[in-house]
Amino acid sequence: MSETQEYVPSVIKAKEMNPKFKYEMSKKHGAERLMLCFQCGTCTADCPISRFSDFYRPRKIARMVQLGLKDRLLSDEALWLCSSCFTCVDHCPQGVEIAGIVCVLRNLSVKERGVMPLVYRELASNLLKGGYVYEIVESRHKKRAELGLPPLPKPNLEEIAKIFEVTGSSKILENVKTFEKVKS
Ligand code: SF4
Ligand code: SF4
Repeated sequence: MSETQEYVPSVIKAKEMNPKFKYEMSKKHGAERLMLCFQCGTCTADCPISRFSDFYRPRKIARMVQLGLKDRLLSDEALWLCSSCFTCVDHCPQGVEIAGIVCVLRNLSVKERGVMPLVYRELASNLLKGGYVYEIVESRHKKRAELGLPPLPKPNLEEIAKIFEVTGSSKILENVKTFEKVKS
């Protein structure tokens, strides 16, 4: 769902709930404490993304995982709005790592659905091609020199390519669809 669309909550049907999902998630690194969430809302109150979004709510993500709403979670683009600032992790009274839970859900989205937002695919491609997630144009290098700043470190592209290969990221980049493509 895009930010311009109106958020319309829909009734949860019993058949949408997968009772095993919370246990599967709890075994993943970063999501171990998800069952400790008691819905106090501190994470949402402090989340910088929730401040500007009508529908991104980390508390809701924790509850949806507990309820086993896997399909809803993985098909929701909002999952990719999290900026991984870790404010929610620092402030949660229960030590729940919402940022880690979001990371696990994103990995599942790519692994099981083969889908991610276009911008993430672009960032990964840039990293593979040039060693930085953003393309650094020549004028930026010149500006640094004019300002007396040292040149940016030269990335080792061979090593980066190797990491992409052994982690399976190259294959993912080749095959992953974007939400934009899935919707068109
Ligand atoms: S701050 Fe922690 S306990 Fe409170 S709603 Fe968020 S994840 Fe749950
Ligand atoms: S890590 Fe994500 S969910 Fe947590 S406060 Fe930052 S943006 Fe919000």
